[in-house]
Amino acid sequence: MKIDFANLQYQYQLYKEEIDEAIHKVLDKSNYIMGEEVNELEKNLENFTDAKNAITCSSGTDALLLAMMALDIQPGDEVITTPFTFIATAETIALLGAKPVFVDIDEKTYNIDPSKIEDKITPKTKAIIPVSLYGQPADIDAIQTIADKHTLKVIVDGAQSFGSTYKDKTDSNLGDISTTSFFPAKPLGCFGDGGAVFTNDETLATKMKQLRVHGQNKRYHHKYIGLGGRMDTIQCAVVNVKLKHYKKDLALRQEVAQKYTDALKDKDIILPFIAYDRTSVFAQYSIRVQDRDEIQAKLKEQGITTAVHYPMPLHLQECFSYLEYKKGEFPTAEKVSDEIMSLPMNPYVSDEEIKFISENLIIS
Ligand SMILES: *Cc1c(COP(=O)(O)O)cnc(C)c1O
Repeated sequence: MKIDFANLQYQYQLYKEEIDEAIHKVLDKSNYIMGEEVNELEKNLENFTDAKNAITCSSGTDALLLAMMALDIQPGDEVITTPFTFIATAETIALLGAKPVFVDIDEKTYNIDPSKIEDKITPKTKAIIPVSLYGQPADIDAIQTIADKHTLKVIVDGAQSFGSTYKDKTDSNLGDISTTSFFPAKPLGCFGDGGAVFTNDETLATKMKQLRVHGQNKRYHHKYIGLGGRMDTIQCAVVNVKLKHYKKDLALRQEVAQKYTDALKDKDIILPFIAYDRTSVFAQYSIRVQDRDEIQAKLKEQGITTAVHYPMPLHLQECFSYLEYKKGEFPTAEKVSDEIMSLPMNPYVSDEEIKFISENLIIS
């Protein structure tokens, strides 16, 4: 048996006719940049998320840049985030000249621990960026309460969590601005790079639309220093098709996760924990084990692809050595980085495959 990790091929075959037609429509019109499919997708995303404004952009990374630029994050500012995330979350803070300030994670959800945030707030702190890791939102109410008390902005990095919920609100409808990514392997992926920002604030929405096109408020008139940050029409056409099937795909993902949990619950493994007031879209099904390298190697021998999200927390990355964090500073993030591994996850993992993976997941 060979078990693919994200199985993008299968999904394309499933929706091939509709996707090919949507792509060819764009080719026939040759409206490659800001074609009508872009606007269509933004309307569809607003309907799906209940956020008042959805603005597509070139990637989940650029979505974070747009959000921080719209909130006027400046050199010298401090932005609080988690060290246990993909590099883009903190990299974009640093790219804008601001300082990433890390706060350790919650041992169960692996998201930023709100009880540790206040200690890190200084007069320079401007914003908090919680990440909805593996598809589950962080404890936003607790974070928002701290942000309100200290007049800080909240940006939700929802790159992995499109369609998840926190107390019945979608992940895209939380904080001042929420972002997502349509990178192919994310739960809602396009066929290249893409992303979006969401906000209920009209002023921020207008500013992000302008920032996305080189800060222009009129053709060749530039109000801000901005980005070339548009999402291609073809990519929007792909997401328009996939979004139609997304509720069904999400339900399947959640079913696969439940089946994994049922199959693995008697092993000496730490399984994903989803808080009672949230849902996860299971961008990853990540478990914690002691002998990770050995277990991964054994699974690989059987044709089962696994991955590690993420093997090194950001405070220990070479690019952030100038921040002078030390090993041991964020013990939970460090421990989880050593133990975490992700099993194949996509809507189409079969019962037989789950059984096979479980049988080959041998804990010594
Ligand atoms: C994937 C990801 C991003 C970046 O998205 P891209 O579309 O690849 O630029 C940012 N943050 C997190 C948490 C991610 O997982």
